[in-house]
Amino acid sequence: MEVAPNVMRPGITDNLWLSMRNDLARYVPRLLDTNLLMCCTCGRFLEREHFDLEHLIPQQAVKLDPLHVRQNPSTPTNVRSGNLLLCKKPLRYKGSLLHKNGCNSWKGKHFDRPIREMATGAAFRGRPSEPMIIAALILAYLAMVSKFGYQITLLPSGLMMREQFFNPHKIQKDIPLRSQMLLGGQLTTDVSSPGWATPFSFSFDGGDCLVSIRNFILRMPISRDPRMPVAQNIPIVPKRFKLRPDFTTVFT
Ligand SMILES: [Zn+2]
Repeated sequence: MEVAPNVMRPGITDNLWLSMRNDLARYVPRLLDTNLLMCCTCGRFLEREHFDLEHLIPQQAVKLDPLHVRQNPSTPTNVRSGNLLLCKKPLRYKGSLLHKNGCNSWKGKHFDRPIREMATGAAFRGRPSEPMIIAALILAYLAMVSKFGYQITLLPSGLMMREQFFNPHKIQKDIPLRSQMLLGGQLTTDVSSPGWATPFSFSFDGGDCLVSIRNFILRMPISRDPRMPVAQNIPIVPKRFKLRPDFTTVFT
């Protein structure tokens, strides 16, 4: 049982590299002439060697899932955690080293512990702290990128979350109050719960996306409904079909 995740790892990483690049190429057609991908948190365009597989719900958390769930071939670790590629290249801000590794390690350092506490239910015995709410926002953002692709990253709401990613201790002033609330409870022990195979689910209400993550839910601000098709190569389109991609990054 210990070997399987490592054996599967190159396959998952390769598939993500292909699917994430194909998705990003919808907004940057010339991308496919390069060997680059945009990191959805720092915004840098980097080569393949600078990316690593990221488990959205950390492996330390999913390792604690009930034995029957862990042994169920339809709910292996990678399915229960969700995956994306994040960069591993050192982060430089205004010429100075901010972090000696990339976004993958930054997430691990700042967010994986509170995510683990939430995703195992331990966090909800008391009132969620500010760092916990921030970690939940970041996880919800990454889950939305995993589900809806780079349009989530390239929207103004995506830029707001990318800025929040690098401010792990203080909620950004642009994050609405309704998104600073977290409803959570104990993790189910029901091994037949569909939540093991689909750890993230999404519904839309007004201008928000309600993101359900295992045992907790929060309301994410979103600049446009990602289920609406994106108009491309059409001169006049209704506003809801428009997406003006924002490629802002402050990192080198
Ligand atoms: Zn990055």
